[in-house]
Amino acid sequence: MPLHSDSLLTRAAQLAQIFVNSLANRPVRNLASTAELRLRLGGALPLTGRDPLTVLEEFVVAADPGIVASAGPRYFGHVISGGLPIALATDWMTSSWDQNAVLHACSPANSVVEEIVAEWLIDLFGLRSAGRAISVGFTSGCQMAHVTALLAARHAVLRSTGWNVESDGLLGAPEIHVFVSAEAHGSILTALQYIGLGRDRAIRIETDGQGRMKPESLCTSIRQADGPKIICAQAGSVNGGAFDPFEEIAAISREVGAWFHVDGAFGLWAAASSLHCELLKGAELADSWATDAHKWLNVPHDSGIVLVADPVSHLAAMSVPGETYLQTNDRDRDPYRFVPELSRRARAFVVYTTLRTLGRQGVADLVETSCRLTRLFAKLLSTDPYISVVNEIHLNQALLRISPGEGASDTMTDAFTQAVIEAVQADDTCWLGGATWQGRRVMRLSLCNFRTYERDIERSAGVILRIVRQLRAEHRWRSMDVDPCGA
Ligand SMILES: *Cc1c(COP(=O)(O)O)cnc(C)c1O
Repeated sequence: MPLHSDSLLTRAAQLAQIFVNSLANRPVRNLASTAELRLRLGGALPLTGRDPLTVLEEFVVAADPGIVASAGPRYFGHVISGGLPIALATDWMTSSWDQNAVLHACSPANSVVEEIVAEWLIDLFGLRSAGRAISVGFTSGCQMAHVTALLAARHAVLRSTGWNVESDGLLGAPEIHVFVSAEAHGSILTALQYIGLGRDRAIRIETDGQGRMKPESLCTSIRQADGPKIICAQAGSVNGGAFDPFEEIAAISREVGAWFHVDGAFGLWAAASSLHCELLKGAELADSWATDAHKWLNVPHDSGIVLVADPVSHLAAMSVPGETYLQTNDRDRDPYRFVPELSRRARAFVVYTTLRTLGRQGVADLVETSCRLTRLFAKLLSTDPYISVVNEIHLNQALLRISPGEGASDTMTDAFTQAVIEAVQADDTCWLGGATWQGRRVMRLSLCNFRTYERDIERSAGVILRIVRQLRAEHRWRSMDVDPCGA
C-alpha cells in the first residue's frame, strides 16, 4: 500500500479550512454519544492497510460529530480559546519540520527561537523589573509548568538545608511546608502529588469573599511552620478570576525565606494591558510563574510556559544524568534542560510567530476585548432581576446565580442554576459550564477567544435569557416549597 499521496497534505489543508470556516455556525454542543462514536470509529485493527487519502477522508467524517466547536466564538466553558490562523499555520509547519526540541544539535532554529521567545515573554509579563535572571521552559500546559516550577522550588528550599533532593530523593529529607490558597486550581495540588510533597499535606490558606488569599491567615499559618517553605499564589483564579495580594505575600515570603510561586495560567497575560496590569502588582517579586499560551494567546493546545527566577535551581531540578549519545552543547541552549521531557515538539515556534503577528499591542487588544465582552455578557444577563453576578469582574471570568424567582431559597437557586446550565448546554448556540463557588452553584462564563465578537455575546445572552424564562414557566419551579432536586 502506498504511504504517500501527492494530494494528501493539500486535501488536509482544505479540510482544515472547511472546518475552521464552519466554526462560527457549528453547534457548540456535543453532537454524538460515546456509543455512536465507538461505532463510527471502531472495529478491529485492519489486517492490511489502505490508501492514506481515503483513511483521512473517512476519519474526518467519522470523528466529526465528536469534535467540539470549543475553538468557535460562543464556547464560554472552562478556559478555552481558538487557534489564531498564524498559530495554526505555524503548528502545521512545526509538525512538517518535525524537529525534536530536545537538543540544539537536533534543531538550532528551535533552540534560538526558544531563547528569543523567553526574552519576549519576560518583558511582556513585566518580570524584568526585579532585576533577576529568569530561565524559561516550554511545557505541554500549565499543569506541567507547575510541576517544573515546584521541582525548582523543592530543589532550592532543600538545598538551603544541605539536602540534595535530585540525588537522594525525599525519604529522610527535611519536611517541606507548602501553603496554597483555599481556591488554588487543582493542577497545583496535582503537581504537589506528582513531586512527592503530597496533595493533602498542603496547608490551605483562607480566602476572602472574592477568592483572594488572606495575607493575615498566611502570616499566622506560616509562622507556626518550621523548616523549608513554598507559597503558591494565583493570578486569575479559574472561577472568579481573583488575583491574590502579591505584594503582601512577597513580603511574607521574604521574611520567612519561602519560595513564592504564581499560577498565572491566563491571568499573567493581564500584564500586557495597561488597563489590567495593576492586578499583577507584586507578582514580579515571585520566584516562579506558570502560564499557558493555549489560553489567552490563542494558540492551539499543547503550549504552556514556566518561568523561574532562579536558573540554577531550575536547571538542577531538570538535570538528566549523563547519556553519552546525547550531543549536548555548553555554548547553546539545549531545550531539554528546562523541562521534564526529552523528545518533544518544537512548541515555541507557534508562540514566536503569534507574538510577532500580534505585537505587544495585539496581545493587549486580545486581553482587553475579552474583558470588555465579559462585562457586556454579564450586563446583558443581569437585565433579568433574578440573575446576579456574584464575583467582581476584574478580567474575563463571570459567575452567575440564577434564581427561579422571588423568595427562592439558596438550595432552590442552586438547582435552578444547574437546570439552566444543562439546558444551555443542550442548545446549539453557546456553551457555558458550572462550578461550585464558595459553597454555591454558579454558571461560569470564561472568555478568551479572538473569534468572539459583540454579536456572539448578544446572541448568546438572548438564548440564555429565553431558556431561563422557559424554565421558570415550567410548573415544577412555580411552587417554591417543592425541592426540585427531589431530596
Ligand atoms: C487552565 C488552568 C490550569 C491548568 O492548565 P493546563 O494548561 O490545563 O495544564 C491551571 N491554573 C489555572 C488558573 C487554569 O485556568
